[in-house]
Amino acid sequence: MNIITLSTAIIGTGAAGYNAALRLARTGDSNIAIFTMGVMNSTSRNTGSDKQTYYKLSLAGSAPDSPEAMARDLFGGRCVDGDHALCEASLSAQCFYQLSELGVPFPVNRYGESVGYQTDHDLRGRATSAGPLTSKLMTECLSREVERLGVTVYDHCQIVRILKDDMGEALGFVALNTAAKEGEERLVRVVCKNIIWATGGPAGIYADSVYPLGHVGSTGVALEVGAKAKNLTEWQYGLASVAPRWNVSGTYMQVLPRFVSVDSDGNEYEFLSEYFSDLGEMLSRVFRKGYEWPFDSRRARDGSSVIDLLVYRETKLRGRRVYLDFRRNPAGLAELPYDRLDEEARKYLENAGACFGTPIERLDHMNRPAIELYASKGVDITKEMLEIALCAQHNNGGLDVDLWWQTDVPGLFAAGEAAGTHGVYRPGGSALNAGQVGSLRAAQYIARNRAGLPSEQAAITMRDQVEDAACGLNALCDKLLANGQEKGDNTSALLSEHRADMSACAAAIRNVAQMKALIEKDRALLSQFDSRVAATGSIGLARAFSLRDALITQITVLSAMINYVDAGGKSRGSALYTAPDGQSAAALENEAGGLFRYVLDDGALDTVTQTLYYDEEGMECLAAWRAVRPLPEGGGFFENVWRTYRENGNVY
Ligand SMILES: Cc1cc2nc3c(=O)[nH]c(=O)nc-3n(C[C@H](O)[C@H](O)[C@H](O)COP(=O)(O)OP(=O)(O)OC[C@H]3O[C@@H](n4cnc5c(N)ncnc54)[C@H](O)[C@@H]3O)c2cc1C
Repeated sequence: MNIITLSTAIIGTGAAGYNAALRLARTGDSNIAIFTMGVMNSTSRNTGSDKQTYYKLSLAGSAPDSPEAMARDLFGGRCVDGDHALCEASLSAQCFYQLSELGVPFPVNRYGESVGYQTDHDLRGRATSAGPLTSKLMTECLSREVERLGVTVYDHCQIVRILKDDMGEALGFVALNTAAKEGEERLVRVVCKNIIWATGGPAGIYADSVYPLGHVGSTGVALEVGAKAKNLTEWQYGLASVAPRWNVSGTYMQVLPRFVSVDSDGNEYEFLSEYFSDLGEMLSRVFRKGYEWPFDSRRARDGSSVIDLLVYRETKLRGRRVYLDFRRNPAGLAELPYDRLDEEARKYLENAGACFGTPIERLDHMNRPAIELYASKGVDITKEMLEIALCAQHNNGGLDVDLWWQTDVPGLFAAGEAAGTHGVYRPGGSALNAGQVGSLRAAQYIARNRAGLPSEQAAITMRDQVEDAACGLNALCDKLLANGQEKGDNTSALLSEHRADMSACAAAIRNVAQMKALIEKDRALLSQFDSRVAATGSIGLARAFSLRDALITQITVLSAMINYVDAGGKSRGSALYTAPDGQSAAALENEAGGLFRYVLDDGALDTVTQTLYYDEEGMECLAAWRAVRPLPEGGGFFENVWRTYRENGNVY
């Protein structure tokens, strides 16, 4: 069988994967290649927002800033390891300037300063943006450079199994060639010394999701080989349209659209007014949702996150569909009572000259591209309502990595959203920075300490192991296809069912009893996978492996959430854990049957972090808590730094 032998395989064609490849290619390593489920499928290439943010050191004006100050702010996100915070701060300028040099149009003023603005959880104005499609532009510029450097990209390759040797070191993987035609070899076999896992966030575990369609992530494959996870409980959820998937943040909220729910008979309700007796207060909270986008448990009682809860109640508890209507004002008003808005909202709309007309007229006035964006995706919000839900957007946790973004499986590195270097809160835009820094760190370490092809002797053993695994996987594929011939493809239906269950009980609103039931359901399906799952064609097979990955990831994420509660964890970040003795969000309480009762976090677990292993044998997870690694002192005496730098580049 044809087996590809490499020094390093990079998995994923998002901004992190491309940067890893670029950095390694520049060291002169010609034995690297990229493997991807879909060159065009990444979150980086397909997502964006009102003004998609990139977070970096302040590089303009007289605002005082330093790597240490930025590291402190990242570290302040809670449950963050200090070494990651310092690396992400120290290397942010280098990574940012590379992107600018490669052509990402980050704005500079006439004197060349990269002027910034303040984003959420940021007091220094460190954010910048190249517009609504910053990550797309990053991916395009990075991929052009990777192509110019001649790196091979294997498209339509879904890695389904990572392998390690007797010493526990990664040795290669098997991928499904999702473009294989009938009769063609369906599995790709690779042996290599290093794998950089840049597979993005585990998007495929949720139904209500603003990750782009086509991106599912593959954290489960890495968990299955024994990589440890960290902070898996920490996510960001927020309001987003479901078709197309897009955050309805910023001006979409600030123009004060009508929130409408529709029942199965087609009856429409303006449900926000059931909760808010004061129209001015209701509109002010909707306005604030614009810049307080992620659901935040601290704002669940008296703040803008009540809006998220009300949407959740309509969709999940009442079984209705929720829409934004930009064509008419809330409450059937021809003119909104702007004088009843809170000062901030009123002043903003006055300054924008937008105290008039309907939501769509205000949007047209303040941000016409926001209308055009939906039009470019086939939705005319001037004529139709836009369906929304409370959606998963980002996993702050992920695979646990060391100072060089290596997992605890030697040779397996993780970068980008697959790596868990953030904590409970993170400044807006820091995900894109972390992806660039992490991929750079992994490449630096590999180039210095793990370069070159596997030895011929090692490669022979590695090939045998990869071939053995491929045989087993081939047999599984045959079985799934035989099931498919017998009863038709059920992979889509199973995925939808398990994802919907996860969105209902383990997203922004988390219910331990329901989570326990879901784990059992996941385990049952996983243990009978080859008899219950049925696939047709290569697409069906690909979905079957995505389902397998999703089940493993769900079991691990659910275990993390349950263990967090067992450890005394309370509602924090973007999650509200149901607690019968807790406070409730007032009028929401009655119908929700206690679901919205919660106790707010007291910070007791801020300086520790939860890690977790998935145990393949028993399909159980092993959780542990450790103190976060402190923020290193940084800096250093120049001559000393220089001496060790000459010896080993300080890469150790
Ligand atoms: C709506 C939205 C708005 C956002 N806004 C911001 C923002 O303003 N600022 C910010 O910093 N972040 C933002 N983010 C987050 C940020 O966009 C992502 O974290 C980032 O793009 C992830 O990049 P990545 O390279 O890690 O992964 P991705 O871009 O997701 O790429 C993953 C790649 O891995 C491949 N892959 C996955 N599994 C496999 C497998 N088994 N085999 C082979 N290939 C595989 C995929 O096909 C894909 O090519 C936003 C996210 C969303 C969804």
